[in-house]
Amino acid sequence: MELSRKVMQIQPSATLKISSQAKQMLADGIDVINLGIGEPDYQTPDNIKQAAIESIQNGQASFYTPATGLPALKQAISQRIETDHGYHFDPSQIVVTNGAKLALFTLFQVIINPGDEVLLPVPYWVSYSEQVKLANGTPVEVGTDRQLRFTVADLEAQRTAHTKALVLNSPQNPSGLVFSRAELTAIVNWAVQHDVLVIADEIYEKLLYNGNQFTSVLELGDENMSHVVLVNGVSKAYSMTGWRIGYAAGPKAIMAKMGVVLGHASSNPAAVSQYAAIEAFGGDQTSVETMRQGFEQRLNELYPLIKSLPGFKLPAGKPAGAFYLFPDVTEALRLAGYADAPAFCTAVLQDAHVGLVPGEAFGLPGHIRLSYATDMASLRKAYQRLQDFMTKKI
Ligand code: PLP
Repeated sequence: MELSRKVMQIQPSATLKISSQAKQMLADGIDVINLGIGEPDYQTPDNIKQAAIESIQNGQASFYTPATGLPALKQAISQRIETDHGYHFDPSQIVVTNGAKLALFTLFQVIINPGDEVLLPVPYWVSYSEQVKLANGTPVEVGTDRQLRFTVADLEAQRTAHTKALVLNSPQNPSGLVFSRAELTAIVNWAVQHDVLVIADEIYEKLLYNGNQFTSVLELGDENMSHVVLVNGVSKAYSMTGWRIGYAAGPKAIMAKMGVVLGHASSNPAAVSQYAAIEAFGGDQTSVETMRQGFEQRLNELYPLIKSLPGFKLPAGKPAGAFYLFPDVTEALRLAGYADAPAFCTAVLQDAHVGLVPGEAFGLPGHIRLSYATDMASLRKAYQRLQDFMTKKI
């Protein structure tokens, strides 16, 4: 049977692919260290687990909830945003989804007409471009400099009459880059001026290191908010990847249509996860800081090690946020005799048993992404394996 032409152009998620290869090798008894996946290794904090258990025991979790989420959860999200960023969303402007991934997917379905263009500053998270294509839109890459930053001039160079939206991800996956208030102000002003919707993916907002500060687009002035949709969730900040709770918040007209789509697509995110998320957003926040400190220690120890590997360069310096390093390995590929990063990553997985993701998955060849969301002993071991691999190949 002929499958849909749309689906035939979609690439599988490269991060999930490398992970499933690594998992298969682990199942075969091979000691693989998978630095390929963006998932905190910490357990979900106990207070959150407890709230979920109670919702099962008292029977609340047994039933459908409203398609766009429980009123109490929207209230908790609204309150969290107001406390953290001083901006008030009415609960009717919030839509809860099965992970931030589905928030983005649904948003693209709602805003894109065939041929509409969505600007994606390079490097960008794997799923944006494929989700835009699934909505019959056209992803348009925006070039960045060697420090991986982009400017309004880069955006202007790609703007056409079809430009509909810009995805602004800070802290950024895969580079850990965090945009400054001045950069964000210039970008958002440009977007509002040209009637471009800013999709602010701030899912790593709680993971900032070494005194670096995060500015949310919500803090730049209420007058921009007709052109901003915030996307966020519990996965990274609360170590809740498996619970699948994310959300979008923004203009009522967009959110209302997202609710219509979700009503047909998913009915609602799992009720038990929503009860857990109420506690995540509204309960004690100490575990967020404990986990952040853990990531910071790993970053500070791993960064100089990775930088010291032959041909590995980090021209943007030590990342300010998220939990990834994104070295430029052009020189390492030349030294070790690999044509490109995918060939290198395949060889490293097979020979050195370390899972990495090639930069091609983020629109930037000649780079690799490694996640340090794993324990320090494994990170040290992974570094040693990479060092041995490079020594053997050079
Ligand atoms: N946005 C970015 C930049 C991500 O890295 C991820 C997950 O890796 C997501 C969104 C989606 O997160 P989730 O669907 O788990 O909420």
